[in-house]
Amino acid sequence: MDKIISKLDSSYKILDNESLSKYTTYNVGGIAKYIIYPSSIDKLVELVKILRNNNIKFKVIGNGSNLIFSSKTYDGVIIKLNYLNKVIYEDNILTVEAGYPVIKLAIETANKGLSGLEFASGIPGVISGLTYMNAGAYNKDMASIVEEVIVLDENNNIVKLSNKDMNFSYRYSILKDKNYIVLTVKIKLEYGNKEEILALIEDRKKRRMESQPLNYPSAGSVFRNPEGLSSWKLIDDLNLKGYSIGGAKVSEKHANFIINSDNASPEDIRNLIFYIKEKVKEKYDIDLIIEQEFVNWE
Ligand SMILES: Cc1cc2nc3c(=O)[nH]c(=O)nc-3n(C[C@H](O)[C@H](O)[C@H](O)COP(=O)(O)OP(=O)(O)OC[C@H]3O[C@@H](n4cnc5c(N)ncnc54)[C@H](O)[C@@H]3O)c2cc1C
Repeated sequence: MDKIISKLDSSYKILDNESLSKYTTYNVGGIAKYIIYPSSIDKLVELVKILRNNNIKFKVIGNGSNLIFSSKTYDGVIIKLNYLNKVIYEDNILTVEAGYPVIKLAIETANKGLSGLEFASGIPGVISGLTYMNAGAYNKDMASIVEEVIVLDENNNIVKLSNKDMNFSYRYSILKDKNYIVLTVKIKLEYGNKEEILALIEDRKKRRMESQPLNYPSAGSVFRNPEGLSSWKLIDDLNLKGYSIGGAKVSEKHANFIINSDNASPEDIRNLIFYIKEKVKEKYDIDLIIEQEFVNWE
């Protein structure tokens, strides 16, 4: 791997032996052998092809706001998308490069009087991360605005997927089951009243600040909501708020958030997640589904 990486041209920003705790919102994770930032979509495609052709393990990440890396070394390449940050506006249709931060996009589009991203104005990921997860809030999700997604498929072909091809459902898209790399996401917004859109974003921000432990590292909601129920309520009713394992704690503010309250290890977080899962199963016979993704545990 070292030899292949050393041959990459100087347009790539390459870091080695970096702690993944800097790249995840839980602030946990082991060392990544390499972190590579491609400078453009073409360079991302080139890099993925090189890594695939040489059987080098890799993972593309956004803002790491849904990820729990183990404390093991990631013996491969983490691809970061910070430089894939262009957006092309054609009236109310936007083509957004994979690494564009969505909170920034929500504010920008609101200021142009475009409505549709208000639901995502507090979700701290990039457009490809939100699309992968079909992230959502306030009964809206990415499925309601995505027109098409351009991906590099597992055979290194560039393919256009329509909204229908994405098979979106609650916190699910086809990307979870395919080895596709998202290059751009086309979204369609609606014309609206700038002041009203900005006011809604402000209101949502206030609600999040009141209800979520935003002053601690976390990765948002830990569990999906079972149909017709709220995970936070099930956990709260078990009096688990404030319960901790090592440095990981069930937030006192929002029972479906685990916070890194005191130098948690990835294992503390994982153990706490499975402890909650077990308690909910015992009491309600419900299998909570984990929304967050474990990486490099096998
Ligand atoms: C405070 C807080 C609040 C949150 N609130 C919400 C909320 O309201 N609703 C919600 O749904 N989520 C919420 N989340 C969770 C998280 O922000 C979302 O799941 C978000 O979509 C993750 O985006 P990301 O860019 O950080 O992706 P990451 O966590 O970095 O990655 C997620 C997955 O996407 C894949 N991926 C990313 N980019 C690509 C690409 N270009 N090609 C292929 N695969 C890719 C990664 O490999 C990984 O499997 C919250 C998190 C926090 C910390």
